[in-house]
This record gives sequence, C-alpha cells and structure tokens, in this order.
Amino acid sequence: MRFDDDAPLDASQVQDRRGLPGGRLTVGGGAVGLLTVLVAVVFGVDPALFGVSDGAVAPVGRATSPAQLQAACRTGADAERRQDCRILATVNSLQSFWQAEFARRQGQYAPASTVLFDDQVSTACGTASSAVGPFYCPADRRAYFDLGFFDEMTGRLGAQGGPFAEAYVVAHEYGHHVQNLTGTMAKVGNDRQGADSAAVRLELQADCYAGVWTHHATTTPQASTGRPLITQLTDQDIARALDAAQSVGDDRIQQRATGRTNPETWTHGSSAQRAQWFTTGYRTGDMAQCDTFD
Ligand SMILES: [Zn+2]
Repeated sequence: MRFDDDAPLDASQVQDRRGLPGGRLTVGGGAVGLLTVLVAVVFGVDPALFGVSDGAVAPVGRATSPAQLQAACRTGADAERRQDCRILATVNSLQSFWQAEFARRQGQYAPASTVLFDDQVSTACGTASSAVGPFYCPADRRAYFDLGFFDEMTGRLGAQGGPFAEAYVVAHEYGHHVQNLTGTMAKVGNDRQGADSAAVRLELQADCYAGVWTHHATTTPQASTGRPLITQLTDQDIARALDAAQSVGDDRIQQRATGRTNPETWTHGSSAQRAQWFTTGYRTGDMAQCDTFD
C-alpha cells in the first residue's frame, strides 16, 4: 500500500480523542455493558471479542490532541510512516470514492468522520468500550476505532495484519455508513443472529462494499490534487485484506475461543463468506453486485 507522498491529507475527517481524561473504562456491567453488546451485535467488526475479553484491553495511551494529529498528518508521506496518519489517509480515500460513486448514481453522499479513542468512548449510540472492536454508529454517522484493535487482530484473532488489513477494517465500517445512507441498515430490524439473519447479510454487504472501494482505490482522484491518494496496492495487500476478513469470521472466532462453532449465534458470517463477499466487491468494483439480501 503506497500513498502519493506530496498529497495533502484532510485531517478534519478524523477526530482524535485518544488520551482524553475520562476515557478510561470505569463503569462495568449495567447500562454500559448492555449497550456495548447491542452496538457490537449490530455494528462491530468483531462482537465475539466482547464475549471472550477479560476487559483488560491495553491502553494505547498517547495523549494526542486533534491539533497534534493535524500537525503530524500533513501529507501522504506521513501516511507511509504513521499508523494514525494512514488511517486518516484511508478515510480520505474512502470518502472521495463514495462521494463520486453516489454522485454517479444520482445520490447524495454525506461525509462521515472517524473517531480515534482509547478504552471507552461516548457516542450517540451510547457508551462503548474498546472490547467491541471497531464500530459505526448510525445515529451520529461516525466510525469509531481504538487502534489497539489491530494488535488484537494479529494477536488473539491470528491475522497476518499489515497496512491494507487495517484499511479493510476501516473500509468495512464505511460500508456501514453507505448502508445507513442507502437505507439498507434499516432492513435488519430484530433479525440479529444466525447464519441467514439480516445482521449477517448486512455485515457481508459491508465487506463487499470494502471490496468495491478497493477495486477503485488507486484510480479515485482526490479533489485537492486531481490524483489518487493511494498509488499502489499489491497482490500481497489484497491477500492481507482477505486474511483479515477471514480472521473476523464468526466460525473462526468461535473456533479459537471455544473450540467449536455455532451458526445459530453468528452475527457477521463465516470466514469463507466474508472473504467471498470482499472478493465479489473487489473483482467487480460494482456495488450493485453486493446484494447479500437477495
Ligand atoms: Zn460490521
């Protein structure tokens, strides 16, 4: 994964709430616990983490203000060097693509900002802990990431990781944003569990949308430069994204956590399904091919 070194990054698309006072998880169970489960079931990449977590998520802990992020992440060259700048650049690329794609379809894209946090975060969907994994809150139209998740992904979940594995996760959450804008998210209702559930279909479609962006990532121009911000994706990058998608499959997570799988409790789809739908999006580059509800 390579970036246009000279391209300016738009730091206004990411809010940095890492290291803020009060960000530590101090309230256990009760309302916080319940909300955490709900957010995880519908929107997280990896709800099973909640079930197997001992709650001791390692704090990333660097006190970084929004102004510091803006100062640190100026250009594509910074995205080559720093993980947080790379996430920011990925968000910039995703939004340029979806903006253009919605316009092409006579739709209107509304930008969604990303929030970086440590441990715990307040959202319009309630308070969530890092244990839910990355998630999207439809009520405030924001994607939330504790960057410590990427260590969980390569550690507990056994993924190979790498820059484009992380970009896949970001793209998946923006897939949920697209679903929020198109109204597909409202289809889930109470059908939130099981291999054939609407929840699983929603998650697989988000994987497909991540693949659609991937297809176009190196050809989508940024408004600021007229050039693509991402200049290169290798076969290795794509393989790492597929590997990440497989690592957050329900069957894989259940197998690692309990030694068996139970499709009746699936919320995101199997490893094979997640890889298959990402591939469908990536091969075709066409969101119309992502009808997982068919
Ligand atoms: Zn999801």
